[in-house]
Amino acid sequence: MVLKIDKNKCLSCAGCVSICPKDALTLKNMVLEVDENKCIECDICTRFCPVNALRLTTNL
Ligand code: SF4
Ligand code: SF4
Repeated sequence: MVLKIDKNKCLSCAGCVSICPKDALTLKNMVLEVDENKCIECDICTRFCPVNALRLTTNL
């Protein structure tokens, strides 16, 4: 699984950045990025995001 970011939905609120237990999310110039080497696919950020901009999906 990989974390997919819908950049058209993301509001750059940084909430997911704050709650990620592995510091896998960062905002760079207000654009959200995920470090797939840090992400443990815990699903916390996907459930938190108020606009459903995040989802875990297969890497196919
Ligand atoms: S919580 Fe959602 S809207 Fe906020 S920065 Fe993360 S992905 Fe974007
Ligand atoms: S799935 Fe978990 S570890 Fe991965 S970016 Fe979201 S909150 Fe962080």
